[in-house]
Amino acid sequence: VKAQGKNGFMRYAPEMHRSHCERVDLSNELRIAIESNQLTLHYQPQIDLVHGRVTGVEALVRWQHPERGLLGPNIFIPLAEEEGLIFPISDWVLNEACRQQASWRRSGLTDLKVAVNISPLEFNRADVVERILLPIRTHQVPPESIEIEITENLLMDDAESVIAKVQELRKHGLRISIDDFGTRYSSLNYLRRFPVNTVKIDQSFVRDLDSTGRQSPVISAIVGIARGFGLSVLAEGVETAFQIEALLQHGCDVMQGFHFSRPVPADEVQRYIEAQALA
Ligand code: C2E
Ligand code: CA
Ligand code: CA
Ligand code: CA
Repeated sequence: VKAQGKNGFMRYAPEMHRSHCERVDLSNELRIAIESNQLTLHYQPQIDLVHGRVTGVEALVRWQHPERGLLGPNIFIPLAEEEGLIFPISDWVLNEACRQQASWRRSGLTDLKVAVNISPLEFNRADVVERILLPIRTHQVPPESIEIEITENLLMDDAESVIAKVQELRKHGLRISIDDFGTRYSSLNYLRRFPVNTVKIDQSFVRDLDSTGRQSPVISAIVGIARGFGLSVLAEGVETAFQIEALLQHGCDVMQGFHFSRPVPADEVQRYIEAQALA
């Protein structure tokens, strides 16, 4: 039933997703996993091609399951959101990312941003700003070195409170990026009132470059709007030299994707960054 997927995660047959027993098992096991340190973060480098350096890494959570192997977030994050387990997971992820950032800084990597994904459910909590600031203070990392990734569909529910929280985080020095940009919200005008630093072009648009040739009206529009609002742009899911070339032609020069590196454990990403710096 299990098979090793493209990402190197264990996969389950579709019928197992639907099985009630499997669900209950998995959610009970997830409770235990959070307490017994079975979660782990992998990191994927973000590369500035113009300056030829790694500017940041994105933290991506994995579950090292004792019997099932390494499970990807697409298996357990949706479940965690349904079962209320996303809150302890978020706390764990934020704390671990800050702990790792502090450790990297001590070992001389002082110029690296760490990006953390925050679920809309977590971001909608009244105390989310405090929950984000707590581990930053505990591990004494500069708030400027932490980037919070949120998705634009957050704005559809209660834009005012989301904007207020983003402003509050920015006031404390944190960076904010909009993940999967261009996939959900129909109007780009909201960017005017939404004080973020970076938009991340969704990997579906990057993949489309292969079929549309080098030209992509969507990527052109996103880069144009982002520049207009003074924001940085990052393309994700970059897998081929052809895509890199096309993205550079569109004026997008910060990228993340399997072409550069898969998400890897902390020590491996550190070796990658140090090797890049020497090159
Ligand atoms: P995302 O935030 O959009 O993360 C990017 C996903 O694309 C990651 O999958 C990454 O491994 C994958 N990816 C990166 N480069 C490439 C590429 O070149 N080609 C392809 N095909 N894929 C690429 P992953 O790690 O399985 O994460 C899936 C989603 O799970 C993430 O999407 C994010 O929404 C969520 N997630 C991951 N970690 C966390 C977390 O700590 N907290 C929360 N709330 N959600 C998380
Ligand atoms: Ca992300
Ligand atoms: Ca994304
Ligand atoms: Ca996504």
